[in-house]
Amino acid sequence: MERKTITKENHHFLKEKETMSIEDLKTLQFEKTRETLERAYHNSQFYRNIFDKAKVKPEDFKELEDIARFPFIDKLDLIKDQENHPPFGSRVCVTPDKICRINITSGTSGMGQEVHCHEEASIVAANASTASHFAAIGLQKGDLSALLYPLGTMTGGMLSYEGLRMLGATPMPLAVFNTNQKIAIMKRFNVHHISTTPAYLSRITSICMEKGIHLKETFSRLKGITLSTEPFPVAWALKMEDLWGTVIHDIYGSTQLNLNYAITCKYGAVPDGQFGCYHLADYLALVEVLNKETDKPVELGEWGEPVVTTFSRKAMPLIRFRSNDRVRLLPPECCDCGRMSRSLWEVGTVARYDDMIKIKATNVWPQTVDEAVFSFDEIEEYNGNVFIDNSGREVAKVSFEFKNAALDDTTKATIINKLGYKIKELTLVTMQLEEVPYGTLPRFEYKVRRWTDERVPGLERVKFIEK
Ligand SMILES: [Zn+2]
Repeated sequence: MERKTITKENHHFLKEKETMSIEDLKTLQFEKTRETLERAYHNSQFYRNIFDKAKVKPEDFKELEDIARFPFIDKLDLIKDQENHPPFGSRVCVTPDKICRINITSGTSGMGQEVHCHEEASIVAANASTASHFAAIGLQKGDLSALLYPLGTMTGGMLSYEGLRMLGATPMPLAVFNTNQKIAIMKRFNVHHISTTPAYLSRITSICMEKGIHLKETFSRLKGITLSTEPFPVAWALKMEDLWGTVIHDIYGSTQLNLNYAITCKYGAVPDGQFGCYHLADYLALVEVLNKETDKPVELGEWGEPVVTTFSRKAMPLIRFRSNDRVRLLPPECCDCGRMSRSLWEVGTVARYDDMIKIKATNVWPQTVDEAVFSFDEIEEYNGNVFIDNSGREVAKVSFEFKNAALDDTTKATIINKLGYKIKELTLVTMQLEEVPYGTLPRFEYKVRRWTDERVPGLERVKFIEK
């Protein structure tokens, strides 16, 4: 495939930090973590309380590994603190006149919204972490970037907007327009870059194709498409690269970090036909990746939960915040582009621990089913449902739509048969398959929620039948 943006040159935005040696990086992380512990302990009632309860003091942090002596915090701790000390909580470390931005999380886990306050220096650092990605993928001053996700109270859209501006590129926030209007504006300005989610890229691609728009020719100046927020299958990303004639990139950030902490470099998300790696902004945060069961650091190659200690957030630092995300750690040697971090993460596979569904005692990740279903070009969309049937059996059902093209019954039957095997092969679970008419399943604009779990009410019904 023709790759339009991978050049021999490495583009940096914060070259000194992005290329510092691992030893220097560790020294910097130690100093910044100690500073953060001291600032939090002496300025925030929240941290003073939890450190005292755990019988630790900032002085106990004598080497990087000592971070394990400090207590974890999670989303519930933040929500409780906000409720007891409205509206910001008692973890604020600065006077109100220093606060100049407030972010509110989307509350995707249904547990309420966290409030995060920032001072100017934190915002500048956050913008730089995003500018670093845009520089890495070859965007330049004057390039036009279509931002297709909302600029709201969450951090993501704002970080991209400000990061592009910091680099000198021009962000075009198009979320207020409908899909047709977005496409028209992107065509009219022949944009150099698009930021969106995997689901919305699929949506916009289908609509463009229905309209007969030849993506490669129409968007001839595209230098890359940057995804975020959701995992995606390799086959899908390769298909997108082929259709759009550009490189698919991905970034991982969070409102809690207030950073785009993990970014793809010039090679993109799927170099050589498989998932590549993210580079980490280790100079802006200490992120441990811990085994969810043992709370011990995972080995290279293993999956674990990022636990976040921020350096840049002076107004409201986070110390050992459990992200509940799931990432896979890779060795630093995985990429030869010259960016340094203590380890790398696998791109495209970051998920939430609470997205995992246990089906028939097997852990099933929705994106594994995505991988199976979307490896069939003929399928447009699907929904998954786990429920208990009248005989009390746990059933996982996949309802899917074929693309709007005439397929004969024999071809369909062959695909359905193969799909069943593919799902079983990748998830180890046998699932029921059901074809539904084209256009009947929901499409997703921003966050993909393809799975529903109806087992709890289903269980009550089974109990009743058995009487
Ligand atoms: Zn790289």
